[in-house]
Amino acid sequence: MSGHEILLTPDGNYLWQKQAWMEGLDAVRTGKLDAHSVSIIQTDNVPAEGTVVNVRQLMATQPAAMVAFYSHASQILRSQKDHRYCGCCGSPCSPRVGEWAMVCSTCDMSYYPRISPCIIVLIHKGDEVLLVQHKKHLRNTSIHTVIAGFIEPGETAEEAVVREVREEVGIEVGQIEYCLSQSWPFPHALMLGFRAEFKSGDICLEEEELVSGGWFHRDNLPEIPPQFTISRQLIDI
Ligand SMILES: [Zn+2]
Repeated sequence: MSGHEILLTPDGNYLWQKQAWMEGLDAVRTGKLDAHSVSIIQTDNVPAEGTVVNVRQLMATQPAAMVAFYSHASQILRSQKDHRYCGCCGSPCSPRVGEWAMVCSTCDMSYYPRISPCIIVLIHKGDEVLLVQHKKHLRNTSIHTVIAGFIEPGETAEEAVVREVREEVGIEVGQIEYCLSQSWPFPHALMLGFRAEFKSGDICLEEEELVSGGWFHRDNLPEIPPQFTISRQLIDI
């Protein structure tokens, strides 16, 4: 399985006990869920008794506790794969007991799971909001969503909001207010959700990433992201 897929049993439940096909695979113990001690494994050999589903689809239907569990577990697994060797001296790393760190066997350097902060912002202009359509969403849907991007080194989150909006749609915003956050495990983003007010400028789309965008009245929105996403939660506030 890739990092974006998860295995379910034929009845749609998770596997709560070790199965014969898991023998020999590395299991990463990631904590407890509903009093069960839970591990996550990664394999390309899908057993006949299971069904592979896409995690994004799964997140849309699962309770918040399960979504949070997957987000946590997949990021621990990813970190252990990414830090198998030390970036300073090249020696092998191994998990440190009691923490999520990977530690170098030679120079003792610690590597904690990477978390990449991103801003995501809904821009308001009176009763209208600005929504854009990304090229990556075009394949199957006409979903319109909010502006988002990674925070760059040395930036505050608010500065990143101003820069990303300027880069993606060419307008200026102000009155930036933090609203809520969401861990987004594709692969390790922390989405910091804001609202902002339009200040000035005409929409000028960044054509590498966006195919369309504009102001939409709140009573007449296009197709928007599913409810479990922070982008939808910003729109629904
Ligand atoms: Zn080292």
